[in-house]
Amino acid sequence: MNWRKGIVIRFHSNTLTVRDLETNINIECYLPGKFKLQKIRPIVGDYVEYVVEKNHEFGVIKNILPRKNELYRPKVANVDQVILVTSLKEPKVDYIIVDKFLVLVEKEQLDVVIILNKIDLLTSSEEKKDMQDFLNIYNPLYPVIPTSKITKDNIQLIKEVLKDRVSTLAGLSGVGKTSLLNMLDPDLKLREGDISPKLGRGRHTTTFAQLLPLKFGGFVVDTPGFADLTLLGIDKDEIKLYFPEFLPYQSYCSFSNCSHVYEPECAVKEAVEEGKISYIRYNNYCVIYKEMEQ
Ligand code: GDP
Ligand code: ZN
Repeated sequence: MNWRKGIVIRFHSNTLTVRDLETNINIECYLPGKFKLQKIRPIVGDYVEYVVEKNHEFGVIKNILPRKNELYRPKVANVDQVILVTSLKEPKVDYIIVDKFLVLVEKEQLDVVIILNKIDLLTSSEEKKDMQDFLNIYNPLYPVIPTSKITKDNIQLIKEVLKDRVSTLAGLSGVGKTSLLNMLDPDLKLREGDISPKLGRGRHTTTFAQLLPLKFGGFVVDTPGFADLTLLGIDKDEIKLYFPEFLPYQSYCSFSNCSHVYEPECAVKEAVEEGKISYIRYNNYCVIYKEMEQ
C-alpha cells in the first residue's frame, strides 16, 4: 500500500486530522492501538506517514516521524519559527516584555522574526523616533519587520517569512496578531480574539492547539506561544545565554562565571559603556536577573 506523508493539524480523542503534504487535502486518520501500547502519542505538528483505507474516507497512521522540537504551551511539535508581534502604541509594549519573550524563544532555540505592528499610529515626530529607536535596538539582533493593517507595509515580505514553515505567534493581547493573520490570508476569517490568550485560557487549552493552513503555504499555530511570561523553569544564571549580543564579550570578564550584574571588570558592562551593547537591553537583563533572585 502507498505510504503518504502528512502533518497533524488537529487532534481529538483518537482521530487525527492530517494534511497531506503533496495534495494539501485534509484526511481524518485513525491511530492504531499499537501506538498506545508503545506509549507513543502524536501531537499537533507531528509529521506522519499514513495509508488511505479502501473506501478513501479514512487514513491509518503507520509511522510518526521524529520531532525536531516540542513546545508545551501550546503543545505542538516541529515549530520552525516564532513570529513575535509587538506595538509601540495601543498598546505601548514595554521593551522588557519584548525581552522576556525573546528570552523564552532563545531558551527553546527557535528562530524569531519580530513584527512591529500598528506603525500607522506612529505619526508625531516623537513616535517616529520611538520606532527608529526600536529598530536600532532590535534589528541588529533579530529581523524586524514594521507593518500595519492600515498601510499594509511589507505584507509580501511577511508572507515570504511564513511560507512553507510552521510558525507560532507570540505577543501581548491587543497587538494585532489576529488582524495580521486575517490581512495575510483573508480566508482564515479569524474573529478578533480567536488567537488571543484569554485569561486562564492559554494554560488550559494547551491540548487543543491546531495548525491553521495558510493559503500561500505554511501553517500557524492557532494559540499564541509563550503567553505565560513568568520565565518558570529558567535559572537566573542561564538568562545571560539568551542575550546573544553578550556572548562575544563574556569570555573577557574577570570572573569566569560573571553574571554581568554585580561583578567588577565585566567586559559586558564595558561593551555597554562603549555603546556596543544597547543600554536598554542590558538594563532589562539586570531587571530580569534581579527579579529572579527574589
Ligand atoms: P490580538 O489580541 O493580538 O489578536 O489583536 P487583534 O488583532 O484582536 O487587534 C486588537 C485591536 O487592534 C483591534 O481593535 C484591531 O482592529 C486593532 N489593530 C490591529 N492591527 C492594527 C493596525 O495595524 N493598526 C491599527 N491602528 N489598529 C490595529
Ligand atoms: Zn561580565
